[in-house]
Formats: sequence, C-alpha cells, structure tokens
Amino acid sequence: MKLGLNMNNKIIVAIDGYSSCGKSTIAKALAKHAGYTYVDTGAMYRAVALYVQRLGLANPESGYTDLLAQLKNIHIDFIQTPEGQHVTLNGEDVEAYIRTLEIGNLASQISTIKEVRAFLVAQQQAMGEKKGIVMDGRDIGTVVFPDAELKLFLTASPEVRAERRFKELEAKGERPIWEEVLADVNDRDYRDTHRAESPLRQADDAVVVDNSYMTREEQMQHIIHLFRERCATV
Ligand code: C5P
Repeated sequence: MKLGLNMNNKIIVAIDGYSSCGKSTIAKALAKHAGYTYVDTGAMYRAVALYVQRLGLANPESGYTDLLAQLKNIHIDFIQTPEGQHVTLNGEDVEAYIRTLEIGNLASQISTIKEVRAFLVAQQQAMGEKKGIVMDGRDIGTVVFPDAELKLFLTASPEVRAERRFKELEAKGERPIWEEVLADVNDRDYRDTHRAESPLRQADDAVVVDNSYMTREEQMQHIIHLFRERCATV
C-alpha cells in the first residue's frame, strides 16, 4: 500500500527507549525526512547538569535546594549550526561540554528531581504546541505528550547495545573492558526504569521497535512507514 503524506496534518512523534538504542539518530533522521523540528530532551537535562557543575550546586544532601532556587535563572534553547542542532545555556552554545561521561552521570542524578523534571517538561510541552515535532527521551510518550499521535519505544538487547558502545569507545581510541561496558548499560537501564519520578516505561499505545538485528536502513524504512501511516489517519 502506498501512502501519501499529508503535510497539513502535522503530528507529534514521541520516541522513548533505553540508553544506546540509537534514539537520537533515528529521531534526527525522521525529523529531517518529515521537515519537523527535532528536540533532544537528554541535551536539556545535560545543560542543567552543566549549570549545576559550573556553579557547584551538586549537593544531594541539601535536597538540591540551591539548584531549585536557581532554576528560574536557567534558560535552555536550541540553535541550528553547520554541525547540526546545538543546545544553548543562557545564550551560550554548550554542545561541546555536555557529552562527557561526568555530565551524563550528573544529568542522570538531577533528572530524578521532581522540580527539575517539571521545569523541563513545561518547556518541552510548549515546544510541541504547534506539532510537527520529533522528541526523544525517556518520558515523552508517557508524561510530556501522552496524546502524541505516534509513540515509538526503541529497544535492543543489553548485549547488542553494549557492543555498540564498546565499538564507539574503541573508535575514540579508548580501550574499553567488555564486562564494564555491559555492566554500565545494565546499571543505566536499572536507574532509568526504577527512579520514583517518571521512570522509563513503554506507553501502552507505543509501537515497540527492537532494533537488535535490524540495520539502520531497515529500521528507518519501518519507522517512516509507521509515520506515514499515522499521518494519513489523523
Ligand atoms: O539521553 P541522554 O543520555 O542524553 O540523557 C541524559 C540523562 O538525562 C539520562 O541519564 C536520562 O536518565 C535523563 N533523561 C531523562 N528524561 C528525558 C531525557 C533524559 O530523565 N526525557
């Protein structure tokens, strides 16, 4: 069946899933295909983490009261650059600082704070007001856009994801240890799915895409088909 794409019917695509599932690659490619805006919500949590690190606000014992008092001073946005979309923190392009392991771990910690989530979720919801958006994260189909027209839940076995991460680290010139990489994948899965605030879970109406044994191209074709099918019915 060939489906026509009605560009007037803009929808919201919510993409959730475990770490190292290739969510952002797929989300970016789908946004490009559709002419939609892509929003990387992980980058927003990472930008808050960078703010916390720079101002020395990482104090879990205090219940992060200093951070909560500062939230109103944190302004996060996205800009388009020749290298793609970058996140800004109070007007500064901070893309170069947020992809480290340290900021990833800090982002994971501060993402468990209810007030931080509410602060970012409100901004994410505002970004989707006009639809025509592809957003990826952990709680997009469950909390940010529970009424999203298309929800995808990406998954792959921990071993396959660990292998992908292992190769990425090797390509960066590092010498990863397989057992450690696999343990890290399992730890992050546990943290993401067991936190009290908005744990990662599959929305009841999400389409599960297990990409363990799919090529990127096969996965993309499958998702474009789902997207077109959904656009044709809204
Ligand atoms: O996806 P990424 O690794 O960049 O996300 C950074 C951190 O932010 C993750 O550890 C994840 O737990 C958290 N996060 C979240 N909710 C989102 C996106 C990311 O809790 N919607």
